[in-house]
Amino acid sequence: MKGTDFNPFAMAQAQFDKVADILALDQGTRDLLRNPLREFHFSIPVKMDDGTTQVFQGFRVQHNDAMGPSKGGIRFHPQETVNTVRALSMWMSWKTAVVNIPLGGGKGGVICDPHNLSMKEQEQICRGWVRQMSKNVGPLNDVPAPDVMTNAQHMLWMLDEFEVINGAKYPGFITGKPVGMGGSLGRTEATGYGVIFTVREALKQMGIKPENTTASVQGFGNVAQYAIQLYTQMGGKVVCVSCWDQKDETSYSYKKNDGIKLEELLKITDKFGGIDKEKAVKMGYEILDAEAWIEQEVDILIPAAIENQIRKDNVDKIKDTVKIIAEGANGPTTPDADKVIEKKGIFVIPDFLANAGGVTCSYFEQVQCNMNYYWEKDEVLSKLDTKMTAAFLAVSDLAKKQNLYMRDAAYVIAVSRVAQACKDRGWV
Ligand code: GLU
Repeated sequence: MKGTDFNPFAMAQAQFDKVADILALDQGTRDLLRNPLREFHFSIPVKMDDGTTQVFQGFRVQHNDAMGPSKGGIRFHPQETVNTVRALSMWMSWKTAVVNIPLGGGKGGVICDPHNLSMKEQEQICRGWVRQMSKNVGPLNDVPAPDVMTNAQHMLWMLDEFEVINGAKYPGFITGKPVGMGGSLGRTEATGYGVIFTVREALKQMGIKPENTTASVQGFGNVAQYAIQLYTQMGGKVVCVSCWDQKDETSYSYKKNDGIKLEELLKITDKFGGIDKEKAVKMGYEILDAEAWIEQEVDILIPAAIENQIRKDNVDKIKDTVKIIAEGANGPTTPDADKVIEKKGIFVIPDFLANAGGVTCSYFEQVQCNMNYYWEKDEVLSKLDTKMTAAFLAVSDLAKKQNLYMRDAAYVIAVSRVAQACKDRGWV
């Protein structure tokens, strides 16, 4: 995260204020929606493998639950801040609203670096998080999920702790669980595939065939990997991918002009999405600096890492060839960079629309848990495609009709839905 003074919550509020003006929202609704409904800050003591006790700082922010239980992931990140979690919880409210599922917005986090923690230590953090939050989360009020550096195993530990505390089985408490333990087929693929469903629709509208396009991707974690998989299956060529290098504590970009090969790269990638540099060189990859991914002469840019990646200081590196930016990450583009992108006429598929596939599939997971009947993968993915395509078309239609920037159109749809739910409940 470049720029230590970057405040994602101020950015989320600035985006909200802009759309509140477009919608001419009344003051009460603005005051309610520009801040979270509730937040929790707590300590998680962990007995470390070396015998010492280390205390980790945990958060959960519930931004809004007018449309249904709060919903959103739990991130493990060494630079986690409460302002990041606040912003992400607000974006979750817009995300669930734009795809029209009966859920609200929440987000959690723990300041920690799983690179340096054993599985036993991570399990204690998961169980400790649930112990602190057990009275305020659950299938009917707040449903966590995986996010940056958390996965199905973390979700299962959290579920187990919740069920021990409550003395019964509550598979709908958390999503992103392992398949066979209440998880949904397709959940692992869902966010990355969802990004590409929206890219496919955007290309269709532009009259461009996917097989005639190239892309550059920032990040090589869950979202990026499955986005690359589906985009490549559609015939597209990814020429560059960038990822974090834990050893050097910086990122590098990996380039192959005739297209990166997902399968070969996965063989030399750790579970956090870090590619082994030396092995990549041997495979013929050119290793470039962290920001090389953004300056590629491609048709599509997919930032799929973390927030604050396309900023005023690097936005001008984007080449004129770029037609689409599909935001797989949450909050990758700052508002001042956004203005430049809008002026350049690049078609943006904004984060809370482009990456809504994960939470949409989480919703399907909850539905399956409630029925205790699990669908085949094809059924899950086809329902996901239907939802993502409908959401994309609603946003792009509005953008065209009202001559709005895609991000603003997505915001108009999402914020009006949440505002209406608050009004209908008599909150404002
Ligand atoms: N963490 C994912 C997101 O940011 C998924 C959230 C969920 O499934 O609840 O959208």
